[in-house]
Amino acid sequence: MRRIYLDYAATTPTHPEVVKAILPYLTDSFGNPSSIYSYGQEAKGAIEEARAKVADLIGARSEEIVFTSGGTEADNFALKGITFANESKGNHIITSSIEHHAIAETCKFLERRGFSITYLPVDEYGLVDPDDVKKAITGKTILISVMHANNEIGTIEPIAEIGKIAKEAGIYFHSDAVQTVGHIPVDVNELEMNLLSISAHKLYGPKGVGALYIRKGTKLASFMHGGEQERRRRASTENVPGIVGFGKAVELAQQEMNKEAERLTSLRDRLIKGILERIDHTRLNGHPIKRLPNNVNVSIDFVEGESMCLNLDLEGICVSTGSACSSPSLEPSHVLLAIGLPHEQAHGSLRLTVGKWTTDEDIERVLEVLPRIAAKLRAMSPLLKSYR
Ligand code: PLP
Repeated sequence: MRRIYLDYAATTPTHPEVVKAILPYLTDSFGNPSSIYSYGQEAKGAIEEARAKVADLIGARSEEIVFTSGGTEADNFALKGITFANESKGNHIITSSIEHHAIAETCKFLERRGFSITYLPVDEYGLVDPDDVKKAITGKTILISVMHANNEIGTIEPIAEIGKIAKEAGIYFHSDAVQTVGHIPVDVNELEMNLLSISAHKLYGPKGVGALYIRKGTKLASFMHGGEQERRRRASTENVPGIVGFGKAVELAQQEMNKEAERLTSLRDRLIKGILERIDHTRLNGHPIKRLPNNVNVSIDFVEGESMCLNLDLEGICVSTGSACSSPSLEPSHVLLAIGLPHEQAHGSLRLTVGKWTTDEDIERVLEVLPRIAAKLRAMSPLLKSYR
């Protein structure tokens, strides 16, 4: 059975060109970039080349990019780094109620250590209101962190407006752009950004590598202590193969992004239309237009997302229920609750995210299989019986 992968927001397959670029750095060019002899300098050169590519993609300067072990570390670095370095100025952070756990759990950690956090509500589409950001600012606010696009429902936040508000108030602004960089245009200057998180495995690069953009002049405490790597901002011998792969993935994304976004948007819209037409009692979660090109999130009434996910898997179709990180938990997604879904609808949600290797035939097959599965599960559903 041919498997259909529709969970590109959880992770993407590593691009074959990326694998090709990585291999020499696992074998012949294995040097430690801190070594002064040729092996080391070869590795160092490769890292700097990748850094320039990442910087170029988001309109930054090379020296403003710090490589990390992924999006989670970049988010932790931004939040802890800013709060620890700016404690004397204040202890208040503003964020949204639909952030990824990498931000939400870091905020909880900071709350336990005496920081005060405002979690802004979102509307029915998952949008933060920039006016709410303005109103939440106090004399003690040192950081605003709002994600660029939500990983579960795909809603793209008005971060240019929020960035402007932050800049006018003289407050640092961070955005978790893990779901957008490499997929839609991101320019740290247009968006008035001080800090921005990126992850390579969401854009056809390897896992375990990412970056934090840190605007020049930003006062940030280091998070990893040890050697002098990354201009003393992040100690530890660099993940050379990972960074090289990240650079290659970014180079490919830059070449293909606009055309690919158009293609994915058309697949996405076919999928949304097909599901809503072929299965009654369904709703689209997230904004209909301000939405990632690859994201479909639907609630199908009277069925459990997990049951649909497992039944689809038996047919070779891989989708997720909410974010991959939260799927082992039985609690409904905090994002779906924040947009106002009742528990039953939140539990009946599915996220299908398309990507580079998704075809028209894949969409057709899902639209043939999913209604059948939903009907089968509904026939056994106590929820439907009590509705009737
Ligand atoms: N932020 C968002 C919005 C994400 O979607 C993810 C991954 O699911 C992360 C952060 C974490 O990134 P990583 O897996 O590279 O740690």
